[in-house]
Order: sequence, then structure tokens, then C-alpha cells
Amino acid sequence: MAWSAVCDDLLDIVFPHLEKVLVEQVCVEEGVVRVQARTRNGALACPDCGVSSSRVHSWYRRCLADAAVGGRPVAIDLSVRRLFCDVASCARRTLVEQVEGLTIRYGRRTVVLATLIQDCLGACRPGRCAAGRRAAHRRQPDDAAECADGVARSVSSLTPGARGG
Ligand SMILES: [Zn+2]
Repeated sequence: MAWSAVCDDLLDIVFPHLEKVLVEQVCVEEGVVRVQARTRNGALACPDCGVSSSRVHSWYRRCLADAAVGGRPVAIDLSVRRLFCDVASCARRTLVEQVEGLTIRYGRRTVVLATLIQDCLGACRPGRCAAGRRAAHRRQPDDAAECADGVARSVSSLTPGARGG
């Protein structure tokens, strides 16, 4: 099997949620797995008028924190398009790509990481996880909100998106 085929298979195995984007590079910098990717060049339906557009207004980069791989935090540097809506009667002039199963509007975490955090918060009980134990130790052992905050802070401190990307 050719090396590029192995790499493609490995990407599919480790990052199945990136199947809808083009992965251009994966590297490790300062202990963080950095994935450079971009959206594909398909047409996109305007959320207001429903008419498809593929006329590019501009590209911009989103830095998304993703679930860790092999104990390393993952940051996805995703280039997305802003497209024109050319329908004269539509109030919207431009629209921004979202990638189903990967991005959340205005979100700085992937859907996978956001779901992981939600699952963790749902399962978290004071004293039963590291963040919960820290929260319980600080003040109120029965305060579930405190525990949830502890989990969110712990996860945020481990994710590259929390640093301003
Ligand atoms: Zn429109």
C-alpha cells in the first residue's frame, strides 16, 4: 500500500469528523496536534432565500479546539469561505460556510469536543471526577454547578481554542 493511502486511511480512522473538508497538513507543534484544512468548493444554499451560491467573497480562518488524540490537544486551523448571495430580493449579502458535524456557528470547538464536554458535564458528580473533586475541595461539595464549572475550566485549559485561536 502506498504511503499516501496509509495516510488517508489514518486520517479517516483518527479524524472521521473531517471527512467533509480537505486536510492539507497535520503536524505537532509544542505538543499540540495542528491540522490545517479547508472546505471543499461546492455550492452553498443561502439560509434566507435558499438559492445556491458558489461565488466567493473571501476566505477566513477558524481555529477550532478538537478532542485530544493520543493525549495531545488538537487544534484545527480551518479555512472557510464567505460567499455572495446574488439574489437581488434577498436581504442577505453574504453567507458563511458551516461544516455539518464539524463546526458550530460562532463556536470555537468542534462538534466532537463540544459533545464530549456536554457528556462529561452530564456525567459529572461532585467527587467523582478530577474537576469535581477540585471544585468540591474548594467549597460546596453538593453544588453541581460548581462541579460543572470545574469540568469546563479543566477542559478549556487543555484545549488550544481557549487560548484565543
Ligand atoms: Zn439569499
